[in-house]
Amino acid sequence: MIIINGKIVLPNVDEPVDCDIRVNSGKIVEIGAKLARNDEILDAEGYIVLPGAIDPHTHFDDPGYTEREDFYCGTSAAASGGITTIIDMPCTSVPPVTNLDNFREKLAAIENKAVIDFGLYGGVSGQSFEQNFPENIIELAPFVLGFKTYFISGMGTFARLNHWQFEQVVRKAIELQIPVLVHAEDFDYIDYATKIARANGDKPYDYYLSRPEIAEVIAVQDISAIVENILSQPKYADIVEKSGIKPVHIVHISTAKSIEIISGKSITCETAPHYLAFDLDDFVKIGSPLKVTPIVKSSGNREYLWEYLANGEIDFVASDHAPAQKNEKFTGSIWTDYSGIPGTGTLLPYLFSEGYIKEKISLKRLVEVTSSAAAKRYGIYHRKGSIEVGKDADFAIIDPNSNWKVDGEKFYSKGKITAFDGYTFHGKIVKTIVRGKIVYDYDEGIIAPAGYGDNIAANMNSE
Ligand SMILES: [Zn+2]
Repeated sequence: MIIINGKIVLPNVDEPVDCDIRVNSGKIVEIGAKLARNDEILDAEGYIVLPGAIDPHTHFDDPGYTEREDFYCGTSAAASGGITTIIDMPCTSVPPVTNLDNFREKLAAIENKAVIDFGLYGGVSGQSFEQNFPENIIELAPFVLGFKTYFISGMGTFARLNHWQFEQVVRKAIELQIPVLVHAEDFDYIDYATKIARANGDKPYDYYLSRPEIAEVIAVQDISAIVENILSQPKYADIVEKSGIKPVHIVHISTAKSIEIISGKSITCETAPHYLAFDLDDFVKIGSPLKVTPIVKSSGNREYLWEYLANGEIDFVASDHAPAQKNEKFTGSIWTDYSGIPGTGTLLPYLFSEGYIKEKISLKRLVEVTSSAAAKRYGIYHRKGSIEVGKDADFAIIDPNSNWKVDGEKFYSKGKITAFDGYTFHGKIVKTIVRGKIVYDYDEGIIAPAGYGDNIAANMNSE
């Protein structure tokens, strides 16, 4: 295949370049002006060709809760939004990916369903820590891209770690040279605040009061202190310095102050589109379609989150895609409404439209926060995350002059309820290409067969 006439977004540039891309056997083999046109031609006239986006935080619930989402619908939703690789969380499938047997069970359930490439995280829950730590993570490490942990958890099958347990997990993960991901909200604060707030009412604002800014800030401070304590020992500091792998990644940061605490430390972080797009006033108005954990925060956080995203203090953006059916989303009380929203299909369109087109972030930064930064963080940059010769031919082709209106009912995800319903985004994904194959086309829908998507960690380890 040869892609012609497109405006190609090459690494570290702020303007797209007019050139052609030749693809062979799933890889980019040549980039240049006016390449010989002796292949099947894909005309990208008027379009911007971005490296395929990476969504490094999804909950596709498969196996276990497939009424909420499964790997076919989840990866189809991602493909429709220009995403070519997702990394799925270990905690919202049953059994949770806390040991190698469970990993194999999940892989068997999903590998014939994915339409785009994927990787998996392992995890350490309160239960698995007690059962067989650290043997389980030593066994799992070659097959996963990181280990997810929680400071507070609403999932019965995946309990939180206390601070001492978290410290042991980070130490072991440093030795294994693999990042630990953590949900940063303070258990002690939220546990009691929830009792008080819940007794007072069941409106969105009551829910907010159970986990406000300070609940995140306390957790981020604790994480920061624990990482500092570990790295005060030369044994661990040396490994981190030599490998260049920062030991901890904080998922879905929602509060500006959290970023200030970890600035300059050996910790990375992500935010999600809903924290950039919405605030507490919106949650009070919208209610459950915007119920996520952590909850969106008071106005004032958003502008700083955009600033920190633009200047690199926030490393990248992930969707935290976690849909649910309508009956779970609307239970009659904000306390029992499912916490989580679909988002993988709107991740790149949102950032392209509201970030790049509205000039909050540069084109170079758009590519970093939607693709290259996550690829580097999770050790897949040799294959993914940029348009360069030798890499996988993964592209998101966007028509920058076309607008479209978000309609949750049309989502490929099983989750149809989105706070973005009715929003108009500038820039339409016209094609998504994974390893040289068109997996999604705006007019034709999902083209790739279920099972086309590869487990990238498996390939990585066979190389
Ligand atoms: Zn999540």
